[in-house]
Amino acid sequence: MLDVSELHVSYGPVHAVRGVSLLAEAGRITLVLGANGAGKSTSLRAICGLQPAGGGSVRLDGAELLGKRPHRIVREGVSLVPEGRRIFAPLSVAENLRIGGYTAGRSRVAALADGVYDRFPILAQRRDMPAGLLSGGEQQMLAFGRALMAQPRVMLLDEPSMGLAPGMVDTVLDRVRAIADSGIGVLMVEQNVDAGLAVADTVSIVARGEVVRSGDAEELRQDASVVHALLGDA
Ligand code: ATP
Repeated sequence: MLDVSELHVSYGPVHAVRGVSLLAEAGRITLVLGANGAGKSTSLRAICGLQPAGGGSVRLDGAELLGKRPHRIVREGVSLVPEGRRIFAPLSVAENLRIGGYTAGRSRVAALADGVYDRFPILAQRRDMPAGLLSGGEQQMLAFGRALMAQPRVMLLDEPSMGLAPGMVDTVLDRVRAIADSGIGVLMVEQNVDAGLAVADTVSIVARGEVVRSGDAEELRQDASVVHALLGDA
């Protein structure tokens, strides 16, 4: 469905992403692992048009997305949940969701928000509360909900477990699994290797801007030491 091929991104003289190829498929979670600075966030930002790419292609069902503006890419069906969640803390939960629904048009926002509240009942309970008062896990669910308001076919998740209490990590990643199970393709960057591997279908490991290994998550679960060795932390 989303086919990223030979993506290149540079920051001036720094060639941060050097020919990365990744796939996201409906109903599946593709986990992207890599050490700090490997180029994971830069790849996600280039896929959704927030960072210009120097080469390669990003196709959604064959249609090229590279070169399109970020809001067009959202309309085509690709939503980013950024690192650090970036929710609007002073605004209520409901207002945060409304912002995520701006591509859908005013008449559909209420129905879309109801869909999010069905998925995440805790957000319904907190709908009038300032988002900044939610717990870390609730804020992450709000960030998912805001992205879901655009009715994406593919979601790009940048470190959804970052900064969460240990007990919350599995809960949030279970929600990611449920999002994929509803038919959305998920491309997820995670630093939390074992928790990420536990929910993923396929895995790509990125080092110094290149994919050094791709494979079935089940295989890598059997031999997580390979993953840690490729990440340089074994
Ligand atoms: P992390 O897990 O630390 O976020 P990452 O794999 O997501 O790491 P990126 O943030 O994509 O890595 O960074 C890839 C490379 O690009 C790094 O060498 C980083 O220093 C560099 N880089 C990232 N953002 C910028 C920027 N805005 N300007 C210049 N260089 C940047």
